[in-house]
Amino acid sequence: MDISRKEAGYRPVNERVADFSEVEQVLNTRDRILQASRCMACGVPFCHWACSTHSRIPEWQDALYREQWEKAINLLHLTNDLPEVTGRVCPALCEKACVLAIHEEPVTIRENEVALAEMAFKMGLIKPYLPKRRTGRKVAVIGSGPAGLTVASRLNRAGHEVTVFEKDEDPGGLLRFGIPDFKLTKAVIDRRIDIYKKEGVVFRTGVYAGKDISARQLLETFDALCLAVGSREPRDLEVPGRDLPGIWFAMDFLSQQNRINAGANIPGRKRISAKGKHVIVIGGGDTGSDCVGTAIRQRARSVTQVEILPEPPLQRTEDNPWPYWPNTLRTSSSHEEGCVRLWSLRTNRIIGKDGRIHKVEMSKLKWKRENGRMIPAETGERLTLETDMIILAMGFLHPVKDKLLKNLPLIFDERGNVSGAEKEAPVFTAGDVATGPSLVVKAIESGQKAARVIHEYLMKRGRK
Ligand SMILES: Cc1cc2nc3c(=O)[nH]c(=O)nc-3n(C[C@H](O)[C@H](O)[C@H](O)COP(=O)(O)OP(=O)(O)OC[C@H]3O[C@@H](n4cnc5c(N)ncnc54)[C@H](O)[C@@H]3O)c2cc1C
Repeated sequence: MDISRKEAGYRPVNERVADFSEVEQVLNTRDRILQASRCMACGVPFCHWACSTHSRIPEWQDALYREQWEKAINLLHLTNDLPEVTGRVCPALCEKACVLAIHEEPVTIRENEVALAEMAFKMGLIKPYLPKRRTGRKVAVIGSGPAGLTVASRLNRAGHEVTVFEKDEDPGGLLRFGIPDFKLTKAVIDRRIDIYKKEGVVFRTGVYAGKDISARQLLETFDALCLAVGSREPRDLEVPGRDLPGIWFAMDFLSQQNRINAGANIPGRKRISAKGKHVIVIGGGDTGSDCVGTAIRQRARSVTQVEILPEPPLQRTEDNPWPYWPNTLRTSSSHEEGCVRLWSLRTNRIIGKDGRIHKVEMSKLKWKRENGRMIPAETGERLTLETDMIILAMGFLHPVKDKLLKNLPLIFDERGNVSGAEKEAPVFTAGDVATGPSLVVKAIESGQKAARVIHEYLMKRGRK
């Protein structure tokens, strides 16, 4: 291997924390092509196996290396409807399974993906695709996150008439109102949605299905319904002091900042601001890390991220070998911007002063593995941190059981996700609503599967 891995890297910390623009930089085309040349066209490409959409990575790396842009983007698009998004935000399961990663640095697959997608847009290679014939069948997609967008676009291209209902003011789901702009600029979503609109997908934003249009009306008007409403019921913290002012759910905090960035005028008293505060983010995952980066940009005095689980190892352990996802410590661009990370801490209570939060009391845990399961035990050690703002980022439980979900003939699994619909009901699911909280790439794959099943269902009923 003559060429080393070269990452585009992030903008300098002192510059990037002053704005909400994307932190990641771009390599020049020459370097990018060289990076693609590091792909070895393995006989058995494990990257392709690890990717949820089974991206044909060796093939499009080769086309990229040969500067066959159209061929490369067509190969990429075969399995991924939103490569400009996954190329920015995917944790890149593919790279962890790259054969090179056994003894070298893996290929920069994710960065190559976004560079290819951006080049294809620049060259005018990504254009609206208008179906030659319409089937006369109507489909309602509820929710416009990555799953809903994938279903809508695929069914529209297959000739069905697709209407997307979205309760928010703009489409995109968590891509728009969850993931911070410094990871994913919203112009990227607008550009793709513009193409879908030109192709004929109808977006009805600001419409809460189940409330503004009833489940019955939807079933009467459309031949099929696809629920792509995500999994948004947040896990709460049930401890004394939880009801004190100054405690927020991550999504309320993040979505408001994204709205402000988009120009929304939020009055001061409604603003959730970290400015000048000692912020504690409870939850050590990616959503928590997004809250860290957002709080830092809002000029928090200090940011501490607390996780109940132990600190992961820096290297793979023996029971976690390549090509599986490595359960190792991940440090995001937000962590690098100045936050303290604490591990193995359980929150016991939140202590107030003058009617607001003042301190949080935690106990140190010791974890041990028993029959493959991690079991916590109290060490007796206590820790009290001062705080004026707590953000809860402890994940999501299941979809919100709103009127729509209550009034459709659905079946739920033991975790509260929608596992299907009652027999004969033309109701299908895609994305987090069915899988539980997951990843963009998994939502896309789920959307592709749903589109196939719905298309088959509609075609059995024939054209109108
Ligand atoms: C803060 C945060 C950061 C994340 N970062 C990443 C990341 O970096 N990389 C990654 O791969 N994954 C990330 N994820 C996960 C990823 O965003 C989700 O897995 C993915 O968006 C799920 O897609 P979806 O289409 O199923 O649902 P969502 O994106 O949640 O979209 C569901 C949509 O349905 C709408 N809706 C719900 N009910 C109704 C109704 N009744 N009527 C009309 N509309 C309705 C909602 O408003 C929403 O727009 C992140 C998640 C969060 C919360």
